[in-house]
Amino acid sequence: MDVTALFKIQYGLFVIGVEQEGRLNACVVNTVAQATAEPPQLTLTMQKRNFTTELARKKGSVAISVLGEKTPIELIERLGTQSGRDTDKMEDVPCTRDAAGNPLLVGNGVVAHYSAEITSELDLGSHYLFVLKPTALEKLDGTPTTYSGYRARKSTGGKQWVCTICHYVYDGATPFEELPDNWVCPVCGEPKSAFVLE
Ligand code: FE
Repeated sequence: MDVTALFKIQYGLFVIGVEQEGRLNACVVNTVAQATAEPPQLTLTMQKRNFTTELARKKGSVAISVLGEKTPIELIERLGTQSGRDTDKMEDVPCTRDAAGNPLLVGNGVVAHYSAEITSELDLGSHYLFVLKPTALEKLDGTPTTYSGYRARKSTGGKQWVCTICHYVYDGATPFEELPDNWVCPVCGEPKSAFVLE
């Protein structure tokens, strides 16, 4: 069994926000997915040892900010790598609150806001899988990032390779430098040399 075959699954990137007793907490996940359309239901998988997971189970609801191609790398790192047990990582992060009081990120390239109730959970060992019923959905401007696009952007110091002809932003899993010489812009067909880092 080749587990690297699983690397071919594409993911988005999301901030999960929970308010508990006046305190705001958040973490970054790549595990939000739409499960059904009628009625809309989502799934969310979270690590058991994560502090935000503990708070979400107590609260019974979460706020989800969908991150975009323009979301700053530093913000993702800050919310993703520190534990809210020890630090107030939401300090200075611009937020609004949903009807349940849970924090949604404002600005910072966020492309959608979801508020949801946790309707059931499944114990997966290291993680819980939550089924979510949305209570509010708001679409904002911008293109959502993929997890691989974020990793590629991280490897270029937060900059992105942009086509100077059609403004397509490279979002692939392979670092731009490692693409073959005959690679062309998937939108306008220009060669690699038409791309600039900006
Ligand atoms: Fe192009």
